[in-house]
Amino acid sequence: MDTVVKKNDQVEVIIEDIGADGEGIGKYKGYTLFIKDTVVGDHVLVNVMKTGKTYGYARLVKLIKPSDVRVEPRCPIATQCGGCQIQHMDYREQLVYKENKVKNCLQRIGGFSNFTMEPISGMEEPYYYRNKSQFPVGRNKDGSVAIGFYAGRTHSIMDTDHCYIGAKVNIDIVKFIRNFISDYKIEPYDEESHKGLLRHILTRVGYSTGEVMVCLVINGKDFPRKAELVEGLKKIPGMKSISLNLNKDKTNVILGERIVPVWGEPYITDYIGPIQYRISPLSFFQVNPVQTKKLYEIALDYADLHGDEVVWDLYCGIGTISLFLAQKAKMVYGVEIIPQAIEDAKTNANINEIKNVEFYVGAAEEVLPRKYREENISADVIVVDPPRKGCDQSLLDTILAMAPKRVVYVSCDPATLARDLKYLCEKNYELVKVRAVDQFGHSVHVETCVLLTRKNVLKYYK
Ligand code: SAH
Repeated sequence: MDTVVKKNDQVEVIIEDIGADGEGIGKYKGYTLFIKDTVVGDHVLVNVMKTGKTYGYARLVKLIKPSDVRVEPRCPIATQCGGCQIQHMDYREQLVYKENKVKNCLQRIGGFSNFTMEPISGMEEPYYYRNKSQFPVGRNKDGSVAIGFYAGRTHSIMDTDHCYIGAKVNIDIVKFIRNFISDYKIEPYDEESHKGLLRHILTRVGYSTGEVMVCLVINGKDFPRKAELVEGLKKIPGMKSISLNLNKDKTNVILGERIVPVWGEPYITDYIGPIQYRISPLSFFQVNPVQTKKLYEIALDYADLHGDEVVWDLYCGIGTISLFLAQKAKMVYGVEIIPQAIEDAKTNANINEIKNVEFYVGAAEEVLPRKYREENISADVIVVDPPRKGCDQSLLDTILAMAPKRVVYVSCDPATLARDLKYLCEKNYELVKVRAVDQFGHSVHVETCVLLTRKNVLKYYK
């Protein structure tokens, strides 16, 4: 196959963009190369490793002229670790990059030109923000205990006590467990042989309550020396819940289904704004509660509720957005595909004494059309917060048919967001404003909140 470059050629490129996994993207004579460990603006010499018809991969050989946005990452293993993809990019530039990514998708995929892009909401402190961490446990090549994070796209463990985006309390927890399993000769899990006991350490922290949870994922039924384990972990400030998770399967899935309580409560609590949530080891909860609050406040603001509206919150998870909206709406209906999440949503509604919500289990693209057909339900506002693949077309058609005054679209993927907005706006909606929120500093991900308003009062079609 004839390409502009072939394997082992060395060429100079200037990095123009970032790919989905944080790798730099540059062009050599129009041919696209993906180059790890580079940032936008870097002028680099690279060695071509693999070529395809339209693009290829290359390895960084020399930084000829570093980009102005390049910084020294705080974390010494940021480049190897799979957790942060762009810690070597100045945080303000990360925000500029993310905002532009959203804007470009809306322009290029959505075909939009006339809309208000409100300034991206960034983090005040883009470190130590994650409330949930999962540390794999294993052995280093020299046989010593390894606890840390997987190197990018591999299962080899980068041994470290200190993650710069996880909660600070993790440092003490990991140090303690590391000593504990060495002192009591507890065998770390070995993926190859499926032997050994301790697989993962899961920690969760309530950022506004200071409550801490530790759950040890084990390849077995019980953990030795529980009294000493509790004794040591209890000394860590905020410790509220200690448990085991049993996972004896040969699998990459971290958590098994069974939780065995060891000490304290089976859950911790946290707040997003005024709403309280109970978080158990298995429950879903947004990982950055500070930025989540900002995102939900934007969604609530865009929904513009005055107390007499009926709102549908589709893809509602554990009801976080629904409960936020219920503060100002007459009635909120949430739809979510995972039954356990709906159980949590109901519990959360109860503990907050929020009565004007109702939740349904099922696929949004089945529940909403069915209810519209059979019960002729209506909505003043519809909120959607789908996974990366965006909304199913049959759901968008039902939204068009129900014709709510406003649609608030919360998205974790600007490309599918743009596709779905194009569909709605070619029919009966107008793109009013857009705001990106950075929930995951040092990663390439970006959340976006969008307001659409209905163009014609008459229902688009029946
Ligand atoms: N709004 C929630 C969760 C958003 S994540 C929050 O802010 O916390 C997207 C959610 O959509 C997940 O909970 C996922 O389980 C759910 N989901 C995925 N496909 C779905 C579908 N077809 N119908 C309904 N929910 C779905």
